[in-house]
Amino acid sequence: MIVMKFGGTSVGNADAIKNLGKIVKNQLDKTPIIVVSAVSKVTDLLIETARLAAAGKDITDNLKSLNMKHTAIMSELNLDLPAVNSLLSEVDDEFNEIKKTKNLNAETLDLVQSFGERISANIVAAYLESIGAKARQYNAYELGMITNSNFGEAEINTDTPKEINKKIKQILKSSAHVPVITGFIAKDKNGRITTLGRGGSDYSAAIIGAAIDAEEIQIWTDVSGVYSADPRIVKNARKIEKISFAECSELAYFGAKVLHPKTILPAMNKNIPVKVLNTFEAENSGTQILSDMKKSEETVKALTCKKNITLININSTRMLFAYGFLARVFYVFDKYNISVDMISTSEVSVSLTVESNNDTKNSSVEKAMEELNQIATTNIVKDKAIVCVVGAGLKNEIGIAGKIFTLMGKHNIHVEMISQGASEINISFVVENEDAEKAVKLLHEEFIS
Ligand code: ADP
Ligand code: ASP
Ligand code: MG
Repeated sequence: MIVMKFGGTSVGNADAIKNLGKIVKNQLDKTPIIVVSAVSKVTDLLIETARLAAAGKDITDNLKSLNMKHTAIMSELNLDLPAVNSLLSEVDDEFNEIKKTKNLNAETLDLVQSFGERISANIVAAYLESIGAKARQYNAYELGMITNSNFGEAEINTDTPKEINKKIKQILKSSAHVPVITGFIAKDKNGRITTLGRGGSDYSAAIIGAAIDAEEIQIWTDVSGVYSADPRIVKNARKIEKISFAECSELAYFGAKVLHPKTILPAMNKNIPVKVLNTFEAENSGTQILSDMKKSEETVKALTCKKNITLININSTRMLFAYGFLARVFYVFDKYNISVDMISTSEVSVSLTVESNNDTKNSSVEKAMEELNQIATTNIVKDKAIVCVVGAGLKNEIGIAGKIFTLMGKHNIHVEMISQGASEINISFVVENEDAEKAVKLLHEEFIS
């Protein structure tokens, strides 16, 4: 069994879906389980429409565009799908309801987003059937993808993998067809739809792959693998042939959009190789993500940056022992579900970074700050970026940090906070948002190109 996940652009139009068809047909002997994202840009459109509706604005054009995106694909693929048409009218009803009630919460937002994947999975399954590969669409939650109720960023329950394993084995035993499963979406135990976080279809694929002990998890996307930097920022970024789980996890965590950061862990726990492959260049060997971490030859393997983060400095005002103070600080972040990316501490002060790219995250950061102000003086600075240098060879190179920061200094890039993980496979630092891409380009030129 293998899991093949196709991202938004890989199901973004009729030609992409035809490529997908060829790719799947070529590997039918490996018993593929397909996981799909919504058609490219559809999730954004669903979110935007919900917000417009809640603000009482006109949504006619959005609804038209949503409809056209899908009907154009179906007509080009010669598919007539009543199931998709009824999902399209169901989501229209949801939007009209939001417009009427002016009520949009995280739960409703997840519900409307779910239509993207539910529709694309129907289209892909029907297309596979039409080219002679027996296939059927499944909503992930029908196959046991059950999460907590943390809408927008839900986490699977402990018995979820066992349930998924049972359900998928039942399907494969009862009839020989390819399951085409919705990525990104799930349900909580009360039957309400949840999502796993933006870009979360990769994570769905990894959860399913680990649950069924797949031989391999293939992430089919619009680039030929994991590159030494985001190819949109660095034009001559190089494809990485092999990368360790640990290195890739740092890259994903610090902003390389090619893989959702949570994807690595389920695969790593079960030692399942992950491949990142190009739907538009299927013959390319892509990137292999493997567990055995042979010594990297390159000191710096890849670079990434994550923009729009918030830097928080916390100074203890009371005579607390360091451990008591840190415990209190982390208790507060945990309470508000805020994940901390980078941290540097001294006995009485802590500097850390958190994400702040949406309204929900911003308001929980504000609440956490109110609480922290009772035990410390705090200062918060927005619009910063983390730059992250990754490579298993970093730990063997003496003076690498010196080289990195001299380079930044030479180009007038102010570095605010530095952190080097204990594993020594990354060095990350905070800069101004507008310097982030420049820093990545300079470091690529110096260490990789
Ligand atoms: P999908 O819809 O297939 O999940 P995404 O847009 O989520 O695709 O991720 C693929 C994109 O990630 C690429 O188009 C590329 O611009 C971006 N990206 C960022 N960093 C990297 C990197 N280091 N290597 C490859 N792609 C990267
Ligand atoms: N469709 C979802 C998103 O755009 C999930 C994904 O593409 O992985 O975030
Ligand atoms: Mg993605």
